[in-house]
Amino acid sequence: MSERVIPLVDQRLQALAATLPSQPIEANGLLSDRLARPLHDLRISVTDRCNFRCNYCMPKEVFNKDYAYLPHSDLLNFEEITRLAKVFVAHGVRKIRLTGGEPLLRKNLEILVDQLANIQTPDGTPLDLTLTTNGSLLARKAKALKDAGLNRVTVSLDGLDDTIFRAMNDVDFPVSEVLDGIAAAKDAGLGLDAQGRLTGLKINMVVKRRTNINQILPMARHFRGSGITLRFIEYMDVGATNGWCMDDVLPSSDVIQHIQQEFPLVALEASAAGETAQRWGYANGAGQFDPCLGEVGVISSVTQAFCRDCNRARLSTEGKLYLCLFATQGYDLRSLMRQSNVSDTDMASAIGHIWQGRDDRYSELRASLPADSTSAARRVEMSYIGG
Ligand code: SAM
Ligand code: SF4
Ligand code: SF4
Repeated sequence: MSERVIPLVDQRLQALAATLPSQPIEANGLLSDRLARPLHDLRISVTDRCNFRCNYCMPKEVFNKDYAYLPHSDLLNFEEITRLAKVFVAHGVRKIRLTGGEPLLRKNLEILVDQLANIQTPDGTPLDLTLTTNGSLLARKAKALKDAGLNRVTVSLDGLDDTIFRAMNDVDFPVSEVLDGIAAAKDAGLGLDAQGRLTGLKINMVVKRRTNINQILPMARHFRGSGITLRFIEYMDVGATNGWCMDDVLPSSDVIQHIQQEFPLVALEASAAGETAQRWGYANGAGQFDPCLGEVGVISSVTQAFCRDCNRARLSTEGKLYLCLFATQGYDLRSLMRQSNVSDTDMASAIGHIWQGRDDRYSELRASLPADSTSAARRVEMSYIGG
């Protein structure tokens, strides 16, 4: 398609060096960046490969048989991921999300889950360990993941209509198999909180104009009252290959209006600082939130930036640290970590130093950037650093 931008530079090859600061930086949980934001959430990409070709993420024209994925020898192994995760936890991370590409394509992922689930936090609070998946392999893997210590899971699902869903994943994958995966996750107990309530099983639906707006209401009907939280994500300008344009973005406010045509909603408080989704609860006849009917979320990354509270860091498959989803370069933690004389305390210093220098707030600045800014063509892909 003529509107697509094909990257001329492979940004994965460019890296910023991770260095040791002259003064050590202690991992005491008090780290903050230049905009006083703490480090709380770590997203770890375990593969840059995927069995889907969602056109908003890995368009077939680019991610074809000639596309150069990272060789397996470049990837961090599970011990390296766990070592880094421990350092991040010492710095204050309490939530770890495994992502990709499609994370369930990484062989023996449950072994990594087990290692991460065993990380102790300094204050003894449990680590929130979760995973985002397209659900295609979940029916087979849900139980092993739960047994290994995964707390919860988010499944991406862009519609219930089989024709629309097959077209969006662009590999003709049937919606029924993803629904089976969601059912298996529920049966395995993924998403149950300490009181045994289902609070952590979530569905992410990317809404794209001219593509799946007519799936908003069927999805709301399907998941309302199921205990599973449906979240609508504004189509974002991540990466450089999806041919994004503002005309394809349906603002979250329109999504909420759409649902309100059939189901009254009431605004709910954010559940945690740095929470990306705004929450809306289904109302009962008296216009009050009815917890039995559950809630929906909207993630308005385009129309309502939430950089101010952004406490997320991203670790790419081969160990680069990205400070923003829209970054063009990452810090090469792998090279530093593989030096024989570099200790975990050194790694904590290096990571602390990088975070202290962070001032990223792309979504807040988006509107003031020229549409054809060169950085747009240099952004790393979401399938590489993870969502
Ligand atoms: N493959 C897994 C999946 O699809 O859940 C995990 C990786 S995927 C990159 C993570 C999330 O990013 C998914 O929920 C996906 O829908 C979302 N995503 C990808 N490209 C996007 C875009 N351009 N705008 C908004 N969300 C996007
Ligand atoms: Fe694959 Fe997820 Fe990207 Fe779809 S959104 S192409 S499932 S990585
Ligand atoms: Fe965080 Fe960057 Fe997204 Fe802003 S644009 S919320 S800084 S990841």
